[in-house]
Amino acid sequence: MAAASARVDLDGKPIKPMTICMIGAGGFIGSHLCEKVLTETPHKILALDVYNDKIKHLLEGENTSLAERIQFHRINIKHDSRLEGLIKMSDLVINLAAICTPADYNTRPLDTIYSNFIDALPVVKYCSENNKRLIHFSTCEVYGKTIGSFLPKDSPLREDPAYYILKEDESPCIFGSIEKQRWSYACAKQLIERLIYAEGAENGLEFTIVRPFNWIGPRMDFIPGIDGPSEGVPRVLACFSNALLRREPLKLVDGGQSQRTFIYIKDAIEAVMLMIENPARANGHIFNVGNPNNEVTVRQLAEMMSEIYAKVSGDQALQSPTVDISSKEFYGEGYDDSDKRIPDMTIINRQLGWNPKTSLWDLLESTLTYQHRTYAEAIKKVIAKPTAS
Ligand code: NAD
Ligand code: UDP
Repeated sequence: MAAASARVDLDGKPIKPMTICMIGAGGFIGSHLCEKVLTETPHKILALDVYNDKIKHLLEGENTSLAERIQFHRINIKHDSRLEGLIKMSDLVINLAAICTPADYNTRPLDTIYSNFIDALPVVKYCSENNKRLIHFSTCEVYGKTIGSFLPKDSPLREDPAYYILKEDESPCIFGSIEKQRWSYACAKQLIERLIYAEGAENGLEFTIVRPFNWIGPRMDFIPGIDGPSEGVPRVLACFSNALLRREPLKLVDGGQSQRTFIYIKDAIEAVMLMIENPARANGHIFNVGNPNNEVTVRQLAEMMSEIYAKVSGDQALQSPTVDISSKEFYGEGYDDSDKRIPDMTIINRQLGWNPKTSLWDLLESTLTYQHRTYAEAIKKVIAKPTAS
């Protein structure tokens, strides 16, 4: 374990051990952040979530020096009076709790809006009232669609980065109409960002807002029918992993033309660690955290994952590895999509000197190796089981 006295921040100042109240610690990002904080720093974690399966190895693991610095509280922040007390006990609050799978945005818009706005309100309020620093997880979806997507298809301006690079302090937030309920999530996240920003401006709240751009890696979401509901629709990494594990074609929504930049979770966690330990450089800022070098269309992602999965599993790729499906059939009424998401990295680079490292190929290779190791046997058993007639 790192010695507390040896740790210094980016300005050479000693970093004092702190107690972090991490809300949503049992999720994908939370599990990686807990692991990193416990293994590389002396900080303590009050881990709040309704689930803890993804951090069980830390809570009950053999390494007691890790386990004694994390305390799990099974709390639903919607209605639990213990929340304020736990915030008061900590030096820093990190809020990751959210409904954040696109399949929910248009089918459960009320739950989505409550989760991403209403349920986050007490967290902001308690931080503000008790002078606690807050790192709040927002999303790159607050940018919505690019300006370029409204230009004619053959316009040369579409090639101009000014029309698609997403900048924290300049880009507008462009959402679809109200009946496109997909934007319920982005809109709720935008409003909580504005509220936090206003708490900073009017009441002096010390805050940092993180806008993740498609962070992916092990433990993301669930594999339907194995460690999540059979009919559940997780985010694209788990959807495609599920299809590869079952040797079914990968479904390309509306032809898979949308573009994304994917970043390896371990690179992204490095950025969050810098925010945690450098408050003087991170407070008052909104940070894009993504990898602008890893851009692909969803179709290219599917092709790459098929090739890599064949390599890591030793099975031949399917003859027809993908199939097209309409968004209405896949997600239902009210779905809409972000066309392109490339983060501008100027602010995070200037404030924290951070850059992502891992290529898309490498991050998919290590993630699909994990998916194969974790799920292939369980899937084989499910497939072999005769279905009840
Ligand atoms: P996740 O779903 O794996 O984690 C969220 C966790 O919050 C879950 O463990 C869930 O049980 C918990 N939670 C939700 N509501 C709660 C409540 N009322 N009380 C207690 N716990 C609750 O998602 P993630 O990918 O780890 O995302 C974390 C945050 O980052 C979210 O705010 C999300 O909007 C944001 N984000 C993530 C990505 C990404 O690429 N993974 C992209 C954009 C934004
Ligand atoms: N997508 C797809 N097939 C799937 C799952 C998702 O084509 O099985 C597409 C989805 O329409 C979107 C992209 O993949 O264009 C990324 O989806 P994800 O769920 O990861 O979330 P988003 O990046 O939209 O927030």
